Amino acid sequence: MTRKIYAGNVAIGGGAPITVQSMTNTDTRDVEATSAQIQRLADAGCDLVRVSVYDQSCAEAVRALVDRSPVPLVADVHFDHRLAIAAVENGIAKLRINPGNIGGEKNVRALADCVKAHRVPVRVGVNGGSLEKEILAKYGGVTAEGLVESALWHARLLEDCGWGEIALSMKASGVRLTVDAYRLGAKQCDYPLHLGVTEAGGPGMGNIKSAIGIGALLLDGIGDTIRVSLTGDPEPEVAAGIDILRALRLRGVDIVSCPTCGRTGIDVVGIAEQVLKATASIKTTMRVAVMGCVVNGPGEAREADLGISGGKDSGVLFVKGAEPRPVRGDLAAILIEEIEKYRNIREAQ
Ligand code: SF4
Repeated sequence: MTRKIYAGNVAIGGGAPITVQSMTNTDTRDVEATSAQIQRLADAGCDLVRVSVYDQSCAEAVRALVDRSPVPLVADVHFDHRLAIAAVENGIAKLRINPGNIGGEKNVRALADCVKAHRVPVRVGVNGGSLEKEILAKYGGVTAEGLVESALWHARLLEDCGWGEIALSMKASGVRLTVDAYRLGAKQCDYPLHLGVTEAGGPGMGNIKSAIGIGALLLDGIGDTIRVSLTGDPEPEVAAGIDILRALRLRGVDIVSCPTCGRTGIDVVGIAEQVLKATASIKTTMRVAVMGCVVNGPGEAREADLGISGGKDSGVLFVKGAEPRPVRGDLAAILIEEIEKYRNIREAQ
């Protein structure tokens, strides 16, 4: 089990639900545009939003961004501990900074004292593209061992200055290397792990690379928070991240719907689409089946928490713990109503 840290009121690690992160691509100093994008990301289901803090004006903008944000914010800082300290003093909930490249022990100590006083966790984020020269030389290029060694080295600098609320990421642009690095890292420390395949490309291939890399690790029980990295607008990153969690039945509604064929007796496509839309913001984990006929329908529907299966001119509704019952009329509306009831019961437990 990893150690638990808190970014504002969001727990990361230690068995907490896996969170979805994204990052703004507006000019951080443009508070209007950046706040609007943060709001859109939060509305899409993002749990934590990161903003780049690359100069003093960005660090000053953090105050207004934090005040307006519905979710905790993370400041992404490189090389300059003074910007990190300013962001923390302006209310940032978490930092991403690598202590090994902020100018030596004196600066690490100043940073550690500040984050400790404000109880702000730090993510050490190592990327294949920016590994230290010594590590590249030692391992002959970017390797899983090198990524892990670098991440642990940065983290140790902060631990040595008295602050252990640390998360790690060890991202590479290759899926296999990313998975190898996290698997190795998970064996060597109990820091919560922030998963992601970096520079994965645009939506489409980027989603596939992320689903394979992040998904493989989550299936291993590795990973506490995720970020799908896509070129362009960040909102699709959130949808992709949530879909990975849904697919693995770690968060939200996993819809099992058949591909349809000549036997299909109900409007599987329409019902599945309506259920998808109606359940997009549900975080409670559940499985909902929408099946076209009696061949596989009852079996899948019975295995799910709720399900509907096509019959002749009607459907059969399955709800866990209840007898299946025939239903007619607006089958999507009937199923969605049952999902809501089921969700209320689960959330009250
Ligand atoms: Fe066809 Fe029935 Fe399978 Fe759906 S569940 S694809 S309708 S056989």
